[in-house]
Amino acid sequence: MFRLGHLLERRAQLHPHRTALVFGDRAWTYGQVRDWIVASARQLRRHGAGPGSVVAYAGASRPEVFVLMYATSRIGGVFVPVNGAATPPEIAYLLADSGADVLIADAACAAKLVDGGTVPPDVTRLCLDEEPPDGYAPLIRTPDEPVGDDAPAPVTEDDLALIAYTSGTSGRPKGVLLTHGNVFWSCVNGLLGLDLARDDVTLITTPVFHIAVLSGVGSYTWAKGGTVVLEPVFSVDGFLATVRRHRVSVTFAVPAMLALIARHPGFAAADLSSLRWILSGGAAAPALVAEVFHRRGIPVVSSYGLTETAAGVTYRDPRDGPGCSGEAGLAAPLAEVRIVGPDNRPLAHGTTGEIVVRSPSVAAGYLGLPEDSAAARDAGGWFHGGDRGYMDSEGRLVVVGRIKDTIITGGENVDPTEVEEALAACPCVDEAAVVGTPDPVWGEVVTAIVVPAEGADCSLEDIQTFLSASLTRHKIPRRLEVRDRLPRTATGKLQRSLLRG
Ligand code: ATP
Repeated sequence: MFRLGHLLERRAQLHPHRTALVFGDRAWTYGQVRDWIVASARQLRRHGAGPGSVVAYAGASRPEVFVLMYATSRIGGVFVPVNGAATPPEIAYLLADSGADVLIADAACAAKLVDGGTVPPDVTRLCLDEEPPDGYAPLIRTPDEPVGDDAPAPVTEDDLALIAYTSGTSGRPKGVLLTHGNVFWSCVNGLLGLDLARDDVTLITTPVFHIAVLSGVGSYTWAKGGTVVLEPVFSVDGFLATVRRHRVSVTFAVPAMLALIARHPGFAAADLSSLRWILSGGAAAPALVAEVFHRRGIPVVSSYGLTETAAGVTYRDPRDGPGCSGEAGLAAPLAEVRIVGPDNRPLAHGTTGEIVVRSPSVAAGYLGLPEDSAAARDAGGWFHGGDRGYMDSEGRLVVVGRIKDTIITGGENVDPTEVEEALAACPCVDEAAVVGTPDPVWGEVVTAIVVPAEGADCSLEDIQTFLSASLTRHKIPRRLEVRDRLPRTATGKLQRSLLRG
């Protein structure tokens, strides 16, 4: 029952003819997706994979990622999703770190890895597409092969299902060990915390490697019997057209995507009448952006979660209005979230401290990092993910930022996200990031890294004058760096570790 993929397969028994998945001009029913999963599991067995095998996929964001994840689960293996947009050395690191036994790559990624010479020789190499490069055997591409009735390998709630890597915004990505139980309970939390129905059409335009998609809204939609529309890459034009074409009712977007959609010239006139709400997570949704969508009658449902919690553990109620920046709603029914001080004691509502989580979806630990795994969980079973926040008077979580991102300047604490949001309203600024840089007098100084608005000049004086209306003195940047663009992960998250210099 807990097995990753079980709920989708169960839906295939209940209503095999409903549409489960749409990708480009192709669509698959639940029955076809199930057959595809079973056939892929058989192929994996044929190539020597079985219980405990670590099966990595590296390539584009496409339906096969889900199919292979569920097929790996059927054979009792452990799935490692790797975004093919990563460089060969980055992929090589993840393959070696996860101890991959099998690598399945799409043709583009396989060619890149052959050229980079980075796959360890003992890894079985399979290619999803026709004409695999040297060293790769083909793996079936379509659900044409006759389906047998091979039984799935038995697994328990505590068996490992996924090694999901954190996005690496604060350093090297860490392999998060997620069990079948973690993913199952994340799904139950999502189904209880979100308003999803069997008729929902869920659009996924973020890379599927993100936990919010892998064990998040995509699998919740299938557990309900709805339809997932998958787009390989995000563009605002593509997003607006797909919403209209498929009458999309629900979607997931990181705040950077929301900001792009809200600023797009086609947004005001676009037909978004089918959209019921947009799930947002991975970073704080700025109030200004959420408001734009709320004004159009499309609530932004912010959610707080980490790879380590197998997706969201809080969800905002769409009826609560746009809220303040970072507001992420109430804890999901099976999750507990609280704020603690340095002595690990709970703090009163309104007081900022460390966010800690207790939920059956919290990961078993980090691969090969026993000290980090032990440090992340306290004696009471609370998971410490390193974020700061507070509870508002209604018990809704407001995420302030990462503890290690907090800038301490002259003894005062500054949350970079607050300064970034104030900077975003500055007319000469297109995008901004704020970090602390070392300083002999102040310890750290607030440093703004800014991408100027088109044709605009950004000077430190202009920025300081603009911010003096909204921020207290110690929060106003003392240094300015102008760049063409900011380093972001594939899902649009700011890579602060690359900005500190
Ligand atoms: P790494 O741990 O490698 O630096 P990462 O933390 O970006 O990568 P993820 O698991 O993808 O890895 O992201 C989780 C983090 O995203 C959280 O710890 C938190 O800082 C941030 N986050 C998630 N949801 C929200 C939210 N609603 N508001 C603000 N921040 C959020």
